[in-house]
Amino acid sequence: MATQTNRLAKAIAPKLGRKLGTRLKNSHSSVNAPVRESQRDAANKDAEAPEQTNSSESRIVPPAENAGLGHCSDAKHAFGAPSNKSEGDSITEIDFAELKDGTLVELVEDPKNPSGTCLAVWKDGEVRFVDRLEQDGQVLVPVSRKDEVLARLRLPCAVSRYESVQVLLCRLESLISQCVAVEETYLSVLADFVLSTWFVDRFEIAPYLSVVGLPQSGKTTLLKVLSLVCRRSLLIADITLASFYQACTRFLPTMLIDEAGSIRSNRALRHILRSGATRDVLAVRRNRTFHSFGAKVISWLEPPDDTALSSRCVLIPMFESKSTALARADEPEVQELAAQLQAQLLRFRFENYKRVKPAPVPRDEHLRPRTRDLLLALTAAHTDVQRSQRLLKFFESGQGVQTEPLDPVPNAVLRALFSMVHLHEDFNSIWVSDLTQQVNVFLELEGEKLRLPPRKVGAVLTSLGFSSRTRTNSGWVLSLTRRDAEKLHQLTASYGVDRAMRSFRGISPDKCPLCRAAGLDKKGPALAPEGTTTLKVNLRKELNP
Ligand SMILES: [Zn+2]
Repeated sequence: MATQTNRLAKAIAPKLGRKLGTRLKNSHSSVNAPVRESQRDAANKDAEAPEQTNSSESRIVPPAENAGLGHCSDAKHAFGAPSNKSEGDSITEIDFAELKDGTLVELVEDPKNPSGTCLAVWKDGEVRFVDRLEQDGQVLVPVSRKDEVLARLRLPCAVSRYESVQVLLCRLESLISQCVAVEETYLSVLADFVLSTWFVDRFEIAPYLSVVGLPQSGKTTLLKVLSLVCRRSLLIADITLASFYQACTRFLPTMLIDEAGSIRSNRALRHILRSGATRDVLAVRRNRTFHSFGAKVISWLEPPDDTALSSRCVLIPMFESKSTALARADEPEVQELAAQLQAQLLRFRFENYKRVKPAPVPRDEHLRPRTRDLLLALTAAHTDVQRSQRLLKFFESGQGVQTEPLDPVPNAVLRALFSMVHLHEDFNSIWVSDLTQQVNVFLELEGEKLRLPPRKVGAVLTSLGFSSRTRTNSGWVLSLTRRDAEKLHQLTASYGVDRAMRSFRGISPDKCPLCRAAGLDKKGPALAPEGTTTLKVNLRKELNP
């Protein structure tokens, strides 16, 4: 199955009677630098070990800033940083490192001992497996499997060749579709997600999936299958918040959380999940820094009543399938295929680690910032233009990511302004009093009791970025430049208030070049087809005639 090469003879495991000099020097983590997954000092860990039974937090060890590991671009992490050679080689436990000479070192499962770990060392297209790696007076050893969290992390145990990234993605889709019934659109999102988890340490924003469905809809099976192929997956049904922070800070795992709604301290969990989508959000507890950054899959019976969290997730709806042809995730054939894919994904990571970086997808500028971040994270690894455009279209359609709605007041102001600039061809100034009237019409249509005075409308206009107002004898006038009009169209497109345009007479979106540029001439989910009218039906009356 694997094409492992040069597995070195096991070196005698170094005794852990290590120099404590490095530990003392590194005992303060930098709040400015996000904690890299890769750097821990073995001596440090030893010193912390006796506390383990009392507090899970005590096992979190700050990064060894001068241990000589990490990104080459990061000078203080590069090899050649100060080391105390006169005291002999220092031993450092690692789970990943990029060495100064370009070598990549990744923690893997020991192919000869599934409960053990070793290091896969990638250099110039060749891989070898070692128990220790000596370089520049440093000795690197793998993090052991004794840690209770690491024991549950799924690690690859081989590095294998693959045909192409497209074939790799197809095989991932095929594996997932053998076990769960999901629509093709979602299948490709799931494969993109799996691939992206292998590069999350290269991203500023981590991708999230929110898997939603009733009991028996296959949510748990989907999480199990994903856990077989995502990088460093950790499948959990319940977890303490301290353990959550600990796992993320130490290993940057892909967390798969089953039935998150039933987890104790659900509120706190949602807070951690929200902050864990962004790399630079750190939590400080007992003078130590933690983070919850990393890719995540969260399953729920129903989406959480938390638009801030939902807007960070791609929504994967699940429905019960009557198919009897679906395989179970624990079947040997599935496990075997997943192990092959993991080995290929690790090779893909090695080959592309330095290249992968989220880059704009052409025509993605209309998406809301969080949706765009998700698009960039999911497409960064494969850089397949057609595939990226398909995902962009999917997000543009309004499916996939729930956007945070605007509050009723700014929503009404935006809709009123948008409909007014479409009344005539050359609209460049608007009476604030006229606009206010329109805003109040919208508020009434939305069932809001609130009515706004012109002064409040002015304040909302400023908050939306339209601040060019002048006072005349007859009242305030809002001036709109072409740039303002473009901005207005972009806001309208990204907040999904496009229903406004068909509610009023005026220029049709097909005729407005700015509407076309913002994609507002296409039908979105919020846009009812031409000629559609909404009827209010009293269902109680219909059902009980
Ligand atoms: Zn327009």
